[in-house]
Amino acid sequence: MSIREFQQLIERIYFEKDAGRGLAATHMWFSEEVGELTRALRRDDDRQNLEEEFADVLAWLSTLASIKGVDLEEVAARKYAGGCPYCHAAPCGCGTG
Ligand SMILES: [Zn+2]
Repeated sequence: MSIREFQQLIERIYFEKDAGRGLAATHMWFSEEVGELTRALRRDDDRQNLEEEFADVLAWLSTLASIKGVDLEEVAARKYAGGCPYCHAAPCGCGTG
């Protein structure tokens, strides 16, 4: 599944609910999920939970992008396909990333 396919899947499942809730409230959910991922990374004792938290953060990031009309795959490729956005190398050689 590509990034675009994933974003479209999340739109099918949640867009109506998330758009209705609005950007600010949806961002609160996203932030909460980032906190849960942080906790899972720190504990590092439950691989399944860690993987689910990564999936949740990506899902909430995707829905925020959809609310703002941003195509995640397009913008990510535009910024990073050429390597580091600053020095254009891969791996980065400028120390900014
Ligand atoms: Zn660089």
